[in-house]
Amino acid sequence: MLQGTPILVLKEGTERDQGRGASANNIQAARAIADAVRSTLGPRGMDKMLVDSMGDVTITNDGVTILKEIDVEHPAAKMLVEVAKTQDQQCGDGTTTAVVLAGDLLKRAETLLEQDVHPTVVARGFHLALAEGTRLLEKEIGIPVKSDDAKALLDVALTAIGSKGSFGARQKLGSIAVEAVQRIVERRGDRIVADVDLIKLEKRHGGTIDDSELISGIVLDKERGHPRMPLAVHGAKIALLNSALEIKKTEIEGKINIKSPQQMQSFLDQEDTSFRQMVAAVKAAGANVVVGQKGIDDVVLHYLAKEGIYAVKQVKESDLQKLARATGGKIVTGIRELTASDLGTAAEVEQRKIGDDHMTYITGCQNPRSVTVLVRGGTEHVVQEVERALQDALKVVSSTLEDGVVCPGGGATEIDLAVRLRKFAPTVGGREQLAVEEFAQALEVIPWALAENGGYDAINVLIELRHAHEGASANRNVGINLNDGKATDMVQLKVVEPLRVKRQALSSAVEVATMILRIDDVIASKKSSPPPPGGPGGHSH
Ligand code: ADP
Ligand code: MG
Repeated sequence: MLQGTPILVLKEGTERDQGRGASANNIQAARAIADAVRSTLGPRGMDKMLVDSMGDVTITNDGVTILKEIDVEHPAAKMLVEVAKTQDQQCGDGTTTAVVLAGDLLKRAETLLEQDVHPTVVARGFHLALAEGTRLLEKEIGIPVKSDDAKALLDVALTAIGSKGSFGARQKLGSIAVEAVQRIVERRGDRIVADVDLIKLEKRHGGTIDDSELISGIVLDKERGHPRMPLAVHGAKIALLNSALEIKKTEIEGKINIKSPQQMQSFLDQEDTSFRQMVAAVKAAGANVVVGQKGIDDVVLHYLAKEGIYAVKQVKESDLQKLARATGGKIVTGIRELTASDLGTAAEVEQRKIGDDHMTYITGCQNPRSVTVLVRGGTEHVVQEVERALQDALKVVSSTLEDGVVCPGGGATEIDLAVRLRKFAPTVGGREQLAVEEFAQALEVIPWALAENGGYDAINVLIELRHAHEGASANRNVGINLNDGKATDMVQLKVVEPLRVKRQALSSAVEVATMILRIDDVIASKKSSPPPPGGPGGHSH
């Protein structure tokens, strides 16, 4: 036996942090991140101003935006940032909630560790609480919503928009979100699918938020390529190209060596012939509109204009794909391969002036399930924040349609879960019971933070809320009304969120908290060590 003989496996000088020290350090870092976003939770949350190294400013109260932008060094803190990103991808909302919850779970875990409860036991208890919590969300707390209940969908949209702070035209944005999602929703068997990627968001500053609108069709942030092109084309037959209509300069230089004026002329003629052939190919296929992902030579644009063809160049790849789906067209690589069957169709392609810019509207598309939301607002910052709010709104409406269940907001769901999990804890027994109790306690951080950010006495609010959720006359929908700090029925107040957001926030929080808890050894590994800042000679440590 080698008992008692230390074996040195790590090179001397390797950075290492072990045991309780490692875990305390990780927990501290993760909690710091949670504390940083906590004050932004809810409609009364404060904004953060993010300034990057170029001096560009973003003002937001969106958890994931903040976390994406700030430079995080500590590995445990990085894990928390990842959680926010996952939550954002899956639900588009609930990111701050997930992070704040994870932070509080870790804080509670720490007190258990201090009482010598083993991290694995804490993790097991948290997972038991999560399983029961998820069951309660689905079976006890969730409220069914019918897919044609536009009012309920609007409530969900307005809650998401409202919690991003207060801007005008909230109602308008809410109805745009609901209508947009209703346009793209489809039934697949007995499932409802609402893929928000079908909705194109286009933003333009200038005008007011109220000028934002929903457009049936696709709007491209591009003007036509030549002033002689028609301003509008009716009965559009659209060629979708992902290659350039140009002749690469390098090709020319490599091939020819011009020695005489005659040669120069013949080269120019040749070039002109190629350009004419490109336009002839477009015409032969029967297209009257060309949408290109790459460049189009000025000469080609000129010839296209002469033929009365409307063309736009340098369109984003994702827009080209949306356009293909909307118009039933096929994206073609070589212009010579273009045939009539590749063309997409739309009733109208038109250049319109929006603010100071010209944009191309493609409306009356073959597939009516293609819509664009044009986001407007006074300044770039406003437009960006409105866009983020709208993205959240689209996602929550789609989640609600797909799952058909909402939960009361304003901390009601979390308080109710806490009350129920406290009753559940004794059935677990052992030391895991302690972890379930701490889990219940951690959930209360959500109403607590909402109250605090609203400027109310959090202790009093919590007492009121707990009281409303217990006993014979308990009402599980009671949360905090941020207008007066009183315990109020959130469904009546129309503050509701999709079940999916709550469920995912809970599970991501538990996942990251337990992952951080299980780490008892942090070793600087070779391959991930970053290059020293400041180039050669710089020392990072
Ligand atoms: P997240 O990034 O987690 O979505 P938000 O800043 O959007 O964070 O805040 C969401 C929280 O705010 C949820 O708990 C939600 O129930 C609550 N909330 C939103 N609107 C209201 C309201 N009008 N009254 C009370 N609570 C609200
Ligand atoms: Mg939100």
